[in-house]
Amino acid sequence: MLKVKEAMPKDVGRCIARMAPEDIRELGLSEGQIIEIEGKKVTAARLLSCDSEMSEGGGRGFLQIDGIIRDNAQAGIDDKVTVRKADHHFAGSITLRPLTSTALLEKERDAVYIRSLLEGMAVRKDDRVRTNLFGTRICDFRVMDTTPDGTVIISKSTYVNVEKQPEMEKKARISYEDIGGLGSQIQRIREMIELPLRFPLVFDRLGVQPPKGVLLYGPPGTGKTVIARAVAAETDVYFTHISGPEVIGKFYGESEERLRNVFEDAQAHAPSIIFIDEIDAIAPKREDMGGEKQVERRVVAQLLALMDGLESRGQIVVIGATNIPNTLDPALRRPGRFDREISIPIPDRKGRHEILTIHTRGMPLAADVDLRKVAEMTHGYVGADLEALAKEAAMASLRELLPEIDMEMEDIPYDRLLAMDVRMDHFLEAFKE
Ligand code: ADP
Repeated sequence: MLKVKEAMPKDVGRCIARMAPEDIRELGLSEGQIIEIEGKKVTAARLLSCDSEMSEGGGRGFLQIDGIIRDNAQAGIDDKVTVRKADHHFAGSITLRPLTSTALLEKERDAVYIRSLLEGMAVRKDDRVRTNLFGTRICDFRVMDTTPDGTVIISKSTYVNVEKQPEMEKKARISYEDIGGLGSQIQRIREMIELPLRFPLVFDRLGVQPPKGVLLYGPPGTGKTVIARAVAAETDVYFTHISGPEVIGKFYGESEERLRNVFEDAQAHAPSIIFIDEIDAIAPKREDMGGEKQVERRVVAQLLALMDGLESRGQIVVIGATNIPNTLDPALRRPGRFDREISIPIPDRKGRHEILTIHTRGMPLAADVDLRKVAEMTHGYVGADLEALAKEAAMASLRELLPEIDMEMEDIPYDRLLAMDVRMDHFLEAFKE
């Protein structure tokens, strides 16, 4: 039995599992081998040993796997899984169903491009796999069928069949590895939100009140929404989202109704997380409201009533996000309401490097790309800025390859796309924009 741990950012989407070298030896496995991982379901991955820096602090007994493999194995972080050597074959053919809409992928040759992105990966029927199309778009697929069945490796000679009809999933699932530079904040949020959601009885028995409301505050684009979505995805709970300005912008009486509906929806699907973005728009300090701010008054009162009405079993958690906590109505921050808060800071150099690693994953980076250097140059950039920078660098590379690129294009010249690489000068060009 091994305990599941999150993967290193650079491994995400590569179908890799890592273990301490001592554990690999003890289990009679070897590095580079394909293994089967069994949680509530069975999936496959390639086994590598942990980097020494990761195995420090008692790295034994752990299996590092990304959110996709965890999903495929139906195992969360800290759950126990078993591993064994996989009896595998090269895939003769596999059928993939897109999980997101893929207007661009309609032709036979598109399947060849997708195969090139998946070569070397070990998969089983029902697994989810991730590709990064043109270095700019994440696209997940579900493995619908393989020949032979069991665990197969995708190779150059695998025939890949891509179904036309996408299975409309909600959104690409976000996991903790998609968030950079916020390790300690994520740790606190997990303790505050994940534990009560996963083990309500433990909290009940200990007589500890799990929080109803958690406030995340920090500048726009630092990852507050991503964190809330990741917690929901990792704990497999229902996620519902509203934004302050959206609620306030309604007609008389509709604002309160909208709020009530969101809470009812969350209650009907509990356990769930309600995310209220820009909560300051709903609940500004009352002294800041003039006589004409009747809407806000009524909406704050409604929000307070709904929070107080939540039964405090930790089965519904409200996460509010704001840039400026001091402008919030203090009534909202009393015990039993938003009584915990976590600050989400602008990333430092190390954080920026982590975020850049995340957003260049799956991009064909040239050897001269020095992400540490890019991290140094981008002082003051938040996660959203760094994501835009990485995308812009990929676009710069694409434009060079396909000066005439437009969405009407009849045929994407994949032979040229396969030669695409994103170089340091593309990043510098993006930086200047
Ligand atoms: P906020 O809610 O704080 O305004 P978001 O969570 O909506 O910011 O972030 C916007 C986008 O920027 C996200 O979709 C994500 O791709 C990227 N991003 C922001 N912060 C981070 C981070 N710490 N790590 C990785 N990506 C980030």
